Amino acid sequence: MTKNCPCGSTLFYADCCQPFHDNKTLPRTAEALMRSRYSAYVLQNTEYLLATWYKSTRPKHLDFSDENVNWQNLEILHTKKGSAKDDKGRVEFNAFYVQDGESRLIHEISRFKKIDGRWFYIDGVLD
Ligand SMILES: [Zn+2]
Repeated sequence: MTKNCPCGSTLFYADCCQPFHDNKTLPRTAEALMRSRYSAYVLQNTEYLLATWYKSTRPKHLDFSDENVNWQNLEILHTKKGSAKDDKGRVEFNAFYVQDGESRLIHEISRFKKIDGRWFYIDGVLD
């Protein structure tokens, strides 16, 4: 597959988020995990979203079948820590989507934690 990655990196999906989704490799940074989770939302890959969610904040299940959210793009605004050397990180982003014919935006600061070399999404502050 030579499609551009849904995370907006300008790389092909196969060279960007797909290896994470396929469990071939792990994201090294909080931002890479953030991007791969955004791509998973676009592709409705609930399994990946749940697998990368910190256990105490993880929802029991995710179901997008009734949702008519059409993700447009992701814009990373700022990252704090979250590098390959860190075990915590924050990523501030805008995620643009269309729902019911209206353009909308989520602005969130997400918190991530690395456990045993794997990054997890903890939660996010919306504003
Ligand atoms: Zn990607």
